[in-house]
Amino acid sequence: MSSYDVPDTCGLTSFSRRRMLKSGAAAAVLAALPWSIRQSYAREPSTLVIVGGGTAGMIASIFAAYRGAKVVVIEKQLSVGGSLVITGGNLGAAGTVFQKARGIHDTAQKHYDDIMRISKGTAVPEMARLWADNAGGMVDWLAGKGLVIPDDRLSVGIYDYYSVPRYHAALQNGISILAVMKPEFDRLVGLGQITLMTGADAIELMQDRKGVVTGVVVADGKGRRSDVSGRSTVLATGGCASNPRMFEALHGVPLYRRVAMPSSQGVGITLGLSAGGHVRCAENYIGYYGSIAESDQWPSLAAANMDIDPRSRAPWEIFVNASGERFVREDHPSMSERDRTMDRQAGHCFWAVFDQRVLDEAPALIGSWSRAKLLDAFNTHPMFHQGATLAELGVRAGINPANLQKTVDAYNLSVERRNPDPFDREHRPVPLARGPFYAVRSQTWTLKSYAGLGVDKDLRVTTKEGRAIDGLYAAGEVLGAATGGKAHTNGASLTPALTFGKLLGEKIIRV
Ligand SMILES: Cc1cc2nc3c(=O)[nH]c(=O)nc-3n(C[C@H](O)[C@H](O)[C@H](O)COP(=O)(O)OP(=O)(O)OC[C@H]3O[C@@H](n4cnc5c(N)ncnc54)[C@H](O)[C@@H]3O)c2cc1C
Repeated sequence: MSSYDVPDTCGLTSFSRRRMLKSGAAAAVLAALPWSIRQSYAREPSTLVIVGGGTAGMIASIFAAYRGAKVVVIEKQLSVGGSLVITGGNLGAAGTVFQKARGIHDTAQKHYDDIMRISKGTAVPEMARLWADNAGGMVDWLAGKGLVIPDDRLSVGIYDYYSVPRYHAALQNGISILAVMKPEFDRLVGLGQITLMTGADAIELMQDRKGVVTGVVVADGKGRRSDVSGRSTVLATGGCASNPRMFEALHGVPLYRRVAMPSSQGVGITLGLSAGGHVRCAENYIGYYGSIAESDQWPSLAAANMDIDPRSRAPWEIFVNASGERFVREDHPSMSERDRTMDRQAGHCFWAVFDQRVLDEAPALIGSWSRAKLLDAFNTHPMFHQGATLAELGVRAGINPANLQKTVDAYNLSVERRNPDPFDREHRPVPLARGPFYAVRSQTWTLKSYAGLGVDKDLRVTTKEGRAIDGLYAAGEVLGAATGGKAHTNGASLTPALTFGKLLGEKIIRV
């Protein structure tokens, strides 16, 4: 007897399950029951077990239910939605109704070409293709359910630009997407087509002797275990960007900031590996630079962001690493190009170095701060340093002082003589010659994980050798950065999560 068998005292076990399901009202009653009780009524094996009721899991379950599948969604939290409650809600999709309504001609091929251009070929081609080919249909479905993208929120993107306006920014971020998906999900739960188990933690995969995945073992809040079996199992548990140990072990980079949902613990990766799967794309890690950490205890909060996008504020400062050397064209128009340089910098940090003249004449480096707050930070904040000389600044900030002096001298000379910049920087308004000198340390960070399970074009989890593991699929951030590559490709996580979830439910999984 399973620990979830229902004691007769609840008065429901004497009621025929078939009769209950025939009645819509009874289905609604069933839907309102705790999952542990509902489980005892779900004696027929499920077609599909979806682990994670977030971005990818919700839409996968909706589309599988449309095809008559018997779906069980296992969700660790007490409610569904996952990262949709915090995501930016920015979607990259081609050929959508929103584009057509504005006369924008776009194709999946153009989208694919843009992904490969922006990622410099580091996106996994078949994953990028799957995203580009199918995202338009997914966005159109959301539109049909009521998603609105106002005119001024359809653009070429905020990172490296797409070649046409294809970046759909939902009005209230991910909440707008959840608001149109949740009623449909709830309706299907009410009809008994989706069984939702909340507060249920998937802890193990079940496999038969031949290695076919046959479901998952779940535990409730009290640690009681139960088997949930199904013909196919989808891992849709999100990434690992709230699990510092796993994040660092997989990427070789500490988790400098924890921004993701606390539930993003990487359990799906562990489950996939336990069945023989493999992890790929760790090398696609790319942090955002320009953020100032509150402290150097990782993961840290953010104190502020520097305004260093040359499209809105051309840099007056130079950026140096701990060796006191420049390493980047500070005004490079591509954010991904700039950020990729951080891989090679010790501690994934740099310092924006400037002098008193820049402080007095340049547009504010931290636009959201008053000048008084900035000046105060140089006396109080561990990431802000000043020195009467460059040597003193270097010592205080932890930058090689001799090299810092040489670097600034070389920069000043080339500015004064109008020599070409060794990094091809174009905006060099003034030399850095008037002390005191200042340095503000920036630490890279990320909001998602890049390493994820390898899958084939049918989203079946594969071994390192490329063999599909029977019965096991995955979608969402558990796949890592296969779709966007080592770049800030607009909409590269949320859009594939929704698109691949829809594809799994709609076409791929046998029902
Ligand atoms: C602040 C922020 C902004 C972002 N903005 C964008 C953006 O604008 N565009 C973009 O493309 N991407 C964006 N992303 C990334 C994108 O939102 C996510 O990658 C995507 O939503 C993840 O979807 P998912 O289905 O994989 O995971 P989730 O939506 O997180 O769902 C996973 C679900 O699985 C559940 N779960 C986890 N472990 C278990 C377990 N063991 N048992 C049962 N359930 C479990 C979780 O509780 C959760 O509900 C952003 C991310 C963040 C953090």
